[in-house]
Amino acid sequence: MAASRTIIVAGAGIGGLTASLALARQGFRVIVLEKAERLEEVGAGLQLSPNASRVLIDLGLQPRLAPRAVTPDAISLMSARTGGEISRLPLGDPGIFQADAPYWVVHRADLQAALQAQVNDSPDIELRLGCQFEDVGTHAKGLTVAQRSGTARQQELAVALVGADGIWSAVRHHLFPEVQPRFSGLIAWRGTLDATQLPREYTSRRVQLWMGPNAHLVAYPISGARQINVVAVVPGTWNRPGWSAPGEANDVKSAFASARWHAVPRMLIGAVDGWRKWALFTVPDGGEWTDGAIALLGDAAHAMLPFAAQGAGMAIEDAAVLAKCLGETQSQGGPTVPAALKRYARLRRPRVARVQRAARQAGRIYHLSGPLAAARDLVIKGMGARRMLARQDWIYDWRA
Ligand SMILES: Cc1cc2nc3c(=O)[nH]c(=O)nc-3n(C[C@H](O)[C@H](O)[C@H](O)COP(=O)(O)OP(=O)(O)OC[C@H]3O[C@@H](n4cnc5c(N)ncnc54)[C@H](O)[C@@H]3O)c2cc1C
Repeated sequence: MAASRTIIVAGAGIGGLTASLALARQGFRVIVLEKAERLEEVGAGLQLSPNASRVLIDLGLQPRLAPRAVTPDAISLMSARTGGEISRLPLGDPGIFQADAPYWVVHRADLQAALQAQVNDSPDIELRLGCQFEDVGTHAKGLTVAQRSGTARQQELAVALVGADGIWSAVRHHLFPEVQPRFSGLIAWRGTLDATQLPREYTSRRVQLWMGPNAHLVAYPISGARQINVVAVVPGTWNRPGWSAPGEANDVKSAFASARWHAVPRMLIGAVDGWRKWALFTVPDGGEWTDGAIALLGDAAHAMLPFAAQGAGMAIEDAAVLAKCLGETQSQGGPTVPAALKRYARLRRPRVARVQRAARQAGRIYHLSGPLAAARDLVIKGMGARRMLARQDWIYDWRA
C-alpha cells in the first residue's frame, strides 16, 4: 500500500470500524489493527440516538442494521419506589419526536458484525485481526507503525495513525503516558434475557429507565426484540481494569433487594441468568487528543460515564469529523495532516465535554433518594414529554 494514502487505525471497536469506513470514503487506504482474534461481544446492548444512526446510515449501513436493530416506541422513566411510570417520552410520535434518523437499540455484536461486513466489502480497507499496535515513530515521510501478530513483528508506513483502541489505549499511553483512566466508584452489570421469559407488558418496544436510591436500571429490547438487554448501575469498590468480567448474580440481586425497589425491577434482575460486570472508568476531560500525525478517537480520547448513552455515539461522530478533516488534506492547498487533526480535535472537544458533563449530571439525578428523588419525579412530571425530549435536541440534531 502506498504510504501517502495509507492511514492506520488501531482498534476495530465501533469507533475504529466507523472511522475506517468514513476514511475509505474520502479516498484513503486504511489498515485496521485489532488485537482480538475475533470481533465478538456478548450480553450487551447499545442505544444509538439519531446523531449516531444518521452517520451510520450515511455510510450505507441501514440495510445491514435495520433488520437487527429495534426502534423503540418510547423511553419510559420509571420510579423504583412506586413501580409507576413518571413520564413516557414517545419516540414513535412524529408530533413530538421529529428526528430525521431513527433512535435504534441494538445488540453490540450486531452493530459490530454489520460494521465488519461493510469493512470486508470495501477494497480499500484491510482488517488485520489478532494484530496489536505496539509502537510508532515519526520521520520526514510520515509515520512508521510497529505491530505484532503472535511472535511476528511488522512495520508499516502511513500518513496518519488513529488511536481508536478504547479506554486502555496503547496509542494514548504512547503519546500521553501521564493520562490515566479514573475509577468512578460505580459498576455496571449487564446481561440479557429471553423476551419470552417475561409477561408481555414488560417486553414492549420501550427503553425502561428505573431510577432508585443510589442505583438505576435500564432495560430495552435488542436482537429484533427477541432479547431484553438489562443494565444495572450500582456503587462498588471492585475496579479491575478491562472491558468486562463475569459477575455473580447474587451480588447484583442483593443491590436491588431492599424494599425501596419495586417488584418489577427486581423481577427483571432475577430473570437474567448470565451477568457480566464493568468497573466504570473515565478518561479525564481536558487532555490532548492529537500529536502531529497521530490522533485519538472514541473512548481512547474521552471515555465517559454511560448515563447519557452516548459513548459509542461520540466515537461514531468523531469518526465522521476526523474523516472529513483528513479528506481536506487531499485537495490542492489543503491543510497538512497535523493541521487537519488539530482541526478535528478543535471541532470535537467542546461538544464531547458537554456530553461528558451531561452524563455525569444524569447519573447524579438518577441516583437521588428520599425527598430529593420525590422532587425530581415532580419536576419530570411537570415538564412533560415534549419539553423533556426537547432537552436532548442539541445531542440528537447533530450533523457532521
Ligand atoms: C454499561 C455501559 C453501557 C453503555 N451504553 C451505551 C449506549 O447505550 N450508547 C452508547 O453510545 N454508548 C454506550 N456505552 C459506551 C460505549 O460502549 C463505548 O463508548 C464505545 O464502545 C467506545 O468505542 P471505541 O471504539 O472507542 O472503543 P472500544 O469499543 O473499547 O474498542 C477498542 C478496540 O481496540 C482494540 N484494541 C485495544 N488495544 C489495542 C491495540 N494495542 N492494538 C490493536 N487493537 C487494540 C480492542 O480489542 C477493541 O476492539 C456504554 C458503556 C458501558 C460500559
